[in-house]
Amino acid sequence: MTVYSGPVFEMAVNQFGVIANHLSIPMDERDRLLLPKRAVIISCPIHRDDGSITVFEGYRVQHHLTLGPTKGGTRFAPSVDIGEVAALAIWMSWKCALVGLPYGGAKGGVRVDLSTISKRELESLSRRYMQEMIPFVGPHTDVMAPDMGTNEQVMAWFMDTYSMYQGRTVTEIVTGKPVASGGTLGRREATGRGVAHLAKRVLNELSISLNGATAVIQGFGNVGSYAALELQQFGLKVIAVSDHTGALHDPAGLDIPALMRHAGKHGSIAGFSSQLQFDPADILTLPCDVLVPAAMERVIDAKVAENLKCRVLAEGANGPTTPDADLVLEKRQDEVFLIPDVLCNAGGVIVSYFEWVQDLQQLFWEEEEVTRREYQILDRAFDTMVARARADNIPHRTAAMAIGVEKVRAAKNTRGLFP
Ligand code: GLU
Repeated sequence: MTVYSGPVFEMAVNQFGVIANHLSIPMDERDRLLLPKRAVIISCPIHRDDGSITVFEGYRVQHHLTLGPTKGGTRFAPSVDIGEVAALAIWMSWKCALVGLPYGGAKGGVRVDLSTISKRELESLSRRYMQEMIPFVGPHTDVMAPDMGTNEQVMAWFMDTYSMYQGRTVTEIVTGKPVASGGTLGRREATGRGVAHLAKRVLNELSISLNGATAVIQGFGNVGSYAALELQQFGLKVIAVSDHTGALHDPAGLDIPALMRHAGKHGSIAGFSSQLQFDPADILTLPCDVLVPAAMERVIDAKVAENLKCRVLAEGANGPTTPDADLVLEKRQDEVFLIPDVLCNAGGVIVSYFEWVQDLQQLFWEEEEVTRREYQILDRAFDTMVARARADNIPHRTAAMAIGVEKVRAAKNTRGLFP
């Protein structure tokens, strides 16, 4: 019995079962590896602009503390619940271990529809969330970052709130901050750049010319927009983009810098063009070379997986593909090359790690160094995943997650069980 439930949590449990079976992990070790170490649920009351008070529910799940502090984003979205946050924390653990970061996974969030609150209310909510979390987080305990619905500004409010209570500036309490407040160069672009870098590697290995290759991006937040921009800079045509307001399709290639300026100003891609509008329900099954789901979990189910017409599936989002869809993709692995989420979007947390290191040392790097080191870590993890998938004759996701789970397991076993 556990308090965690819901389809996203079930998905993380199901995936772990596949890995645990593959690694023949004894039954009595499985709960220790899978179940989160800690979970906090808080009430965040804020004053509304009209003088009333609203209480929002907030969460933080810290999956394991075996390798160092926990690390992971904070999500502000109406879908957030404890099961989703726990699943996302578990995925962060496998991701950090796969790429070799000294962290366990964490995730947090607030159940809130951002379209219903003002900027001032968002600041109050962000500050109250961090203030309620002070007993449970710290630069060597749990380090937050952005995720869906949060951004550099929210991270700056988190850092400021924590620092005001400490009586000194503690930049290392969160990552993904503005560069002006202790953030690192290259963090804003890091996740999208990593996605594009790995997709480019796979296209090269498949001997598909970058010039004129096509990309389709679902989601135009921080990850989707920078992935689109990088892919376009590599010579690809980004033929379709969607977000929560709709989709745009242009076989000649969309103007991504113009679309980013529009989305930056208006908050979404809505209103960019009436001629290019397209049914967002069809975006994932458009024929293309690179498909980047960079929005929600569970958007690729078995039916969508049967109908994918991409050559490379580069998972920018966390958990976009269901276990049923994985079974379909396993059969289609010669047609669709999967770069699984725990590797594909790991550029974000890799550069968050660089930000934390720079803040702790108060020694800041050039952007070129940040990005070079990001790609070096991603390339190494990619090589390890592909070699493992070949050696064990398993899908890429199983290989990537198995490497992560194995590292956490080895650390737990060598440390032993206290007391
Ligand atoms: N929220 C991002 C993720 O899911 C980034 C986490 C971080 O930078 O700590 O990987």
